[in-house]
Amino acid sequence: MSSAQPTVVTEIESLRKQLLELQHAHDVLRHQLAKQSLNIELSLLDKAALVDESLDPLFVWRLYDGITLWNCAAEDLYGFSAAEAFGRRSHELLQTRHPLPLTELESILLTEGQWAGELIHTTKDGRTIVVDSRQRLIHRADGQLLVVESNRNITEKKAVEVALRLSEARFRDTFEQAAVGIAHVGLEGNWLLVNQRLCDIVGYSREELLKRSFTEITYPEDVERDWNCVRKLLAGELSAYDMEKRYICRDGSITWVNLTVALVRNEHDQPGYFISIVEDINSRRKAEEEVRILNATLEQRVRERTASLEEANRELEAFAYTTSHDLRAPLRTLEGFSQAILEDYGDKLDSLGRSYLDRITVAARRMDLLIQDLLNYSRLTRAELRLERVPLQSITQQVVRHLERTLQESGATLDMQENLPAVWGNSAILIQVVSNLIGNALKFIGPNVTPHVGIYTERRGEFVRVWVVDNGIGIEPRHHQSIFEVFHRLHGSEAYPGTGIGLAIVRKGIERLGGAFGLESEVGKGSRFWFELKDASEHHGLAQ
Ligand code: ADP
Repeated sequence: MSSAQPTVVTEIESLRKQLLELQHAHDVLRHQLAKQSLNIELSLLDKAALVDESLDPLFVWRLYDGITLWNCAAEDLYGFSAAEAFGRRSHELLQTRHPLPLTELESILLTEGQWAGELIHTTKDGRTIVVDSRQRLIHRADGQLLVVESNRNITEKKAVEVALRLSEARFRDTFEQAAVGIAHVGLEGNWLLVNQRLCDIVGYSREELLKRSFTEITYPEDVERDWNCVRKLLAGELSAYDMEKRYICRDGSITWVNLTVALVRNEHDQPGYFISIVEDINSRRKAEEEVRILNATLEQRVRERTASLEEANRELEAFAYTTSHDLRAPLRTLEGFSQAILEDYGDKLDSLGRSYLDRITVAARRMDLLIQDLLNYSRLTRAELRLERVPLQSITQQVVRHLERTLQESGATLDMQENLPAVWGNSAILIQVVSNLIGNALKFIGPNVTPHVGIYTERRGEFVRVWVVDNGIGIEPRHHQSIFEVFHRLHGSEAYPGTGIGLAIVRKGIERLGGAFGLESEVGKGSRFWFELKDASEHHGLAQ
């Protein structure tokens, strides 16, 4: 036993020694560790001073616990002073909205040592800000876990991004939902971007269209015209162009479009691409074509109708002319035999019988007058006309000579302008016209009024207006047009005899001479009839 004891003792001694050595080594290690952790603390403190220089908010918090460091930029951004921030839990102080649950974020920090992402914070004055956050976990020597959080304010950047996204979305919507085709076209004519409407117009899918150039789907006859404009655009001779052209659709049909093209240049003013607006004008074109065809056939139809009407008119006039002629012969017989009975058997008749015969004679003469007027009228519409230089002076003189008896009987005074000018017309027609107007001026006169007729002219540019003015009974304005129609009379033949054809002859005659006519009149204030023809005086000699 005594021999064994020293061995055990030695064993124990050696173990104690080892223990002491281990203890020493442990102390050395602890000392070193403490030194290192002090260094870390010191370096953190150094950094804290630097941290204040940082423009970005930066703060340190203990994991699951409060803030231990809060720099100036954090004070500026969040509005909380360092004193207010210390000890507070950051997510409570800043009402942090995390993209993931806080517990998850903490476990990421623990496992991966860092986290980065966007956070939404609320400042002391209640503003909401978005920050780009970077968080790093630091293991302190004393076992504490610190998180260094550095945040960059990206609120404005975010707002710009949102606005940009919105405007891009708006642009996309406008582009896609536009009622017209819109495309971006490369300088070689290849489609770069096309909207749905353009695909609908030409019948190609977007993919098919993007593999083609505009030349390939343009109607061959329109290609050169289009490229001409493109070249001018590239040369800067045009800022944009607009043309109607045809595309060949996928199914081979041809469609008309109105194309507007502008060139987009890059920041170095070099041509970049074209923007084309393509408007489907097929239906408009079709409608135009239909209108054109309709117009063409309409003109044809009008021509045919006019021709058949003219033919019918000619036949009617010929008929009226011949029948009028034929009617005059039996009338003359009627009048002649009435006269013969009166002359040969007048003494055998009583006064009633003689008055019957008188009435027959008057009626026959009246009818003869009517037929003569009708013949004159129809001759006017039928006769071939050549305009000649007609001196109005001689025309009116002839008429006055012809009406001399009537003038004398009525005691009328005639006031005629001296040296009446010449006009382009036809003597026979003008004699009839002037004679009818003066005749009416003498006829339509109130009881116990001496007729006073004035004839004078007025130059109106290349025309001469001839006035026939009377002091007669006048005409209500509502009849000023209708009295120029055949048989249109305002009085019975007892009051004022007549056939109702005189003014129709005036109208037809002046119309055939290419002139105008009219009147100014009121009941009881006389009438002022006028007609207008081209001046044929010396200085207007070539004015025909
Ligand atoms: P007529 O003289 O045979 O009746 P017109 O054709 O010459 O036929 O005239 C048509 C009508 O116009 C006349 O019946 C008369 O009522 C009216 N008229 C024509 N001239 C005058 C005038 N100078 N003054 C008043 N009324 C007139």
